[in-house]
Order: sequence, then C-alpha cells, then structure tokens
Amino acid sequence: MSEQDCIFCKIVRGEIPSRKVYEDNEILAFHDINPAAPVHFMIIPKKHIASLGDAREEDRDVLGRMMVMTGRLARQQGSTDGFRTVVNTGRVGRQDVYHLHVHVLGGDEPLPGMIHRSK
Ligand code: AMP
Ligand code: ZN
Repeated sequence: MSEQDCIFCKIVRGEIPSRKVYEDNEILAFHDINPAAPVHFMIIPKKHIASLGDAREEDRDVLGRMMVMTGRLARQQGSTDGFRTVVNTGRVGRQDVYHLHVHVLGGDEPLPGMIHRSK
C-alpha cells in the first residue's frame, strides 16, 4: 500500500472528508466512521507509517506526542472518566487500515470486554 493509495493519507491530504478532532503539523485526529463506542476517534501521524510494527527510532517523538494527547482529546470529546486506547497491528492484530492509528474509545459508561470490536 503506497501513500498515494492509503486511505488515511488521503484524509491527511483532504482528498477524503473526515470529522476532525485535532490537527497540527505532524498529527491528525478524526472520528471513526464506524464508531464502536459513544466516543471513538483515532489519532494518526501525518507521516505514512504502515503499522506500529514498522515504527522506527525516528518516529519516537511523534508517537510520544500522540500518546500524550489522548487524555486531553478524550476529555474534550466527552470521555471524562477514562478511555481505552487500541492499536491493531498486522495480520494477527487484525489491522484493516495500514497507516498507524491509535483508537481512542470512551463515553460515560465502562466499555465491554478487552477487545474493542469483533470482526
Ligand atoms: P483497524 O482495524 O484498527 O485498522 O481499524 C480501522 C478503522 O478505520 C476502523 O475502525 C474503521 O471504521 C475506520 N475507518 C475506515 N475508513 C475510515 C474513514 N474514511 N474515516 C474514518 N474512519 C475510517
Ligand atoms: Zn498512509
């Protein structure tokens, strides 16, 4: 999957619409099109990194910033008493979109189980 064809790169470039939650020069957050919880958005690096398994030392800062950002954005979206982060990776992790993304799931009530959605 090249950056040209990558659906999340297309969202970064504005070629596919998204409901944005946050944006800066290296990070974008937007609502999941098929939410699995009352609050469900994802945080992605604008740089195309195919998966967490492909992350490199040079990606450390942006990945760290993404993690630090989760709490503030979750609260802003109405998940005030905690949330869950999920990073599906590769075939075994049942990753569907091969552009690294951190799911942030939450809402008012505790989420069911460990797995955020059965596929
Ligand atoms: P994953 O299995 O972690 O790769 O999940 C990919 C996620 O991307 C799924 O939860 C989809 O609902 C979501 N998704 C796919 N296409 C879009 C899109 N165009 N805008 C927002 N979310 C999307
Ligand atoms: Zn991409």
